[in-house]
Amino acid sequence: MFSSFIIKYAEIGVKGKNRYLFEDALVRQIKYALKKCEGEFVVSKTPGRIFLDAQTEFDYDDVISHLKKVCGISGICPMVRLEDEGIDKLKEEVVKYFDETYPDKNVTFKVCARRSRKNYPLDSMEINREVGGALLDAFPELKVDVHEPQIELVVEVREKIFIYSEIIPGIGGMPLGTNGKAMLLLSGGIDSPVAGYMIARRGVKIDAVYFHAPPYTSERAKQKVVDLAKKVSAYAGPIYLHTINFTDIQLYIYEQCPHEELTIIMRRYMMMIAEMIAKETECQALITGESIGQVASQTTHSLAVTNEVCTLPVFRPLIAFDKEDIVTISKQIDAYETSIQPYEDCCTIFVAKHPVTKPNLAYIKRHEENLAEKIDELVKTALETRETIIVTDED
Ligand code: ATP
Ligand code: MG
Repeated sequence: MFSSFIIKYAEIGVKGKNRYLFEDALVRQIKYALKKCEGEFVVSKTPGRIFLDAQTEFDYDDVISHLKKVCGISGICPMVRLEDEGIDKLKEEVVKYFDETYPDKNVTFKVCARRSRKNYPLDSMEINREVGGALLDAFPELKVDVHEPQIELVVEVREKIFIYSEIIPGIGGMPLGTNGKAMLLLSGGIDSPVAGYMIARRGVKIDAVYFHAPPYTSERAKQKVVDLAKKVSAYAGPIYLHTINFTDIQLYIYEQCPHEELTIIMRRYMMMIAEMIAKETECQALITGESIGQVASQTTHSLAVTNEVCTLPVFRPLIAFDKEDIVTISKQIDAYETSIQPYEDCCTIFVAKHPVTKPNLAYIKRHEENLAEKIDELVKTALETRETIIVTDED
C-alpha cells in the first residue's frame, strides 16, 4: 500500500551550512542504494525532511533492506501523502489508513499532530481531537493511551498532509562522504570488517589494504578478504582494495630480527605501508580492528609501539569492545560466516611461541636497524607490485 516514505536522520550537530551538505550527501547515498532495487524512485528534500516516492511497482522488502544499509538514516517511515481537502476528508483518510494498516483493532493509540503550516484552520490539539474521535467512532475497540500507546499515528500538516505510524529503524550515523576517507587494514578476521563498518557509519569513505604472503597464504585466503570487503561495501559503498605482497618483507624480518619481536615489527611495517598508500590516495586516517588485550600484539604496550610509526590518526573503533560484542556486530553486517572460514593469515605463519607483550621501543628500533640493507627496496617493491581492485556488494 505504501509508495512514499519519510526518511529521518539524526539532526544533532547538523546545523547551518552543514545541514545542506549532510542532506545532499544523504540524498545521493539513498539514490545510490536504490539503483540496486527494481523500480523508479524520486528522492527529494524539503528543509528537515527527505522524501522517497516510488514511481512504479517496486519490491517493498528489498527497498527497506537497502535503505537499512544507508549510513545516516535513523528511521524510515512508510507514509501516505494527502492533498489538503479539509478536515472531514482527512478524517476519512486516516480511518482508511488505520483500517488497512492495522487489521487488529484491539490496540491502544494516540494521534500526534504536527502543524508546520500555520494557516491550517485547526491547531495541533484540535487535529488530535478530531482525528482521534473519528478513529474511535469507526473502531470502538480502540483505546486511547497518551503515555505508552502501541500505535502513535502522526499527522503532519505541511503543504500536503502526511500520515504515518511506523518508524523502521535505520543504522543511524552520518551519510558517507561527509567525513573524509580512511584506509582500513583489512584482514580475514572478525574484527577488521566490523571496524571498517563502524567508521563508515560515521560518514567516512573507506579504502582497504590487505597484506598477504603467498605461497604461505592461499588464493582462498585472499578471496575471503575480497568477500569481507564486499560485506563492508554494502554499507561503505565501493571500496578500493589494495593487496600487498608481504612475503619478502616477512621473511627478511624473520631472518634478521629476534623471533619474539617478529609480530610487532611486522605490524609496524604493515602500518607504515598502509600509511604510505593512505597518503597517496588522500585518506586522512587509518582504521584497524585492534582491541586492547586481545592478543600479544594488542597489549597497551604493543599498541603504543605499533602506533609509533604512524603520523596519521589511527581509528580503532573496537579498542574497548569485548569479543562477544564484536561478534554481535559482525553477525549484524552478515560478515561473521565469512570471517570464521578457516584460512591462514599472514600474521600467523611466522609467529613466535612467546611473542613479547611489553615490547620496548628502543630495542625494537635497534633490531629494526638489522633490516637497513634491504628493507627500503623491499617496501618499494611491495608498493609497486600491489594489486588494486574495486569491490562493490553487487556481483
Ligand atoms: P582481525 O580479526 O581483524 O583479523 P585479529 O584479532 O586477528 O584481527 P591481529 O591479527 O593482531 O588481530 O590484527 C590486528 C589488526 O591489524 C586487524 O584488525 C587488522 O586491522 C590489521 N591486520 C592484521 N593482519 C592484517 C593483514 N594481513 N592485512 C591487513 N591488515 C591486517
Ligand atoms: Mg587477523
